[in-house]
Amino acid sequence: MKILQDLNVDLHTHSTASDGSLSPSQLVLRAIDHGVDILALTDHDTVSGIAEGLEEAKGTGLTFIPGIEISTMWGGSCIHVVGLDIQFNNPNLREALLQIQKGRFQRAERINLALIKAGLPSMLERALSISGGKGQIGRVHFARAMVQENICEDVRDVFSNYLVKGKPGYVEHYWPSLKNVVSLILKANGLPVIAHPARYKLSYNLLTYMFEEFVSLGGVGIEVATGSHSSADIERFKNVSMEYDFKASRGSDFHSPSESRYDVGRAPYLPDCLLPIWANIEVRG
Ligand code: AMP
Ligand code: MN
Ligand code: MN
Ligand code: MN
Repeated sequence: MKILQDLNVDLHTHSTASDGSLSPSQLVLRAIDHGVDILALTDHDTVSGIAEGLEEAKGTGLTFIPGIEISTMWGGSCIHVVGLDIQFNNPNLREALLQIQKGRFQRAERINLALIKAGLPSMLERALSISGGKGQIGRVHFARAMVQENICEDVRDVFSNYLVKGKPGYVEHYWPSLKNVVSLILKANGLPVIAHPARYKLSYNLLTYMFEEFVSLGGVGIEVATGSHSSADIERFKNVSMEYDFKASRGSDFHSPSESRYDVGRAPYLPDCLLPIWANIEVRG
């Protein structure tokens, strides 16, 4: 029997239900192919891929965990919170996600206007069609549209030239508060986890306040080994995890074979000294 630390666990992945390029079924098959034992699908602000993923994983050796990655606001910064093992049919969660989706659509219209103002043709129709028309539109869909239109060479280029703060296609947006999102996840019986903590441009003090608030709200874990972290980041957040008694999570943040740094199941492993968050999930059955 494999011990907890040795399981190949990937608790942060995306599908076509948000800004990934593989369908939930394709993602599950790829995970099985890569020897993944436990997989969570954590699309941005939507659970619309979960049913398909569960169905594909049925009868295989792969444990599929319903999850989500929700964009939140804390202290003026956008913080991503992963919710693991959520009741994905929870009515309050569904209603809140619908509201976030409306906000995403309105933001897309504002992004489009900002790009037009910068001299580009309208990208909205193409971005919407790339997003699959399911309402879950994000910056990645604009980036792919702009690559298709030969405005930039790749998605990364579009982000750094157009879609990040200070660039012409960046617009401010108000996501729900960290507090409301943690409460939403807890009420859907999920485990709230701070995604890729090294990515936020917060000072040491602000990050400390954020973690303290997250603990007081009922937050359970942080991602330590993720596709967004360098080995120095892993070491840093290993220490944070021990200091706050956080459960540690591992996830590739896989979006697409051609765009992502780590493929599904291929992120670095967790440092041995940490308690993996999947211990909680197994106990919860
Ligand atoms: P959104 O939630 O629509 O604001 O888009 C955020 C998503 O954009 C992230 O989840 C990543 O998939 C992607 N992203 C963010 N920054 C970059 C970047 N610098 N290069 C490529 N993709 C990025
Ligand atoms: Mn994404
Ligand atoms: Mn994220
Ligand atoms: Mn992600």
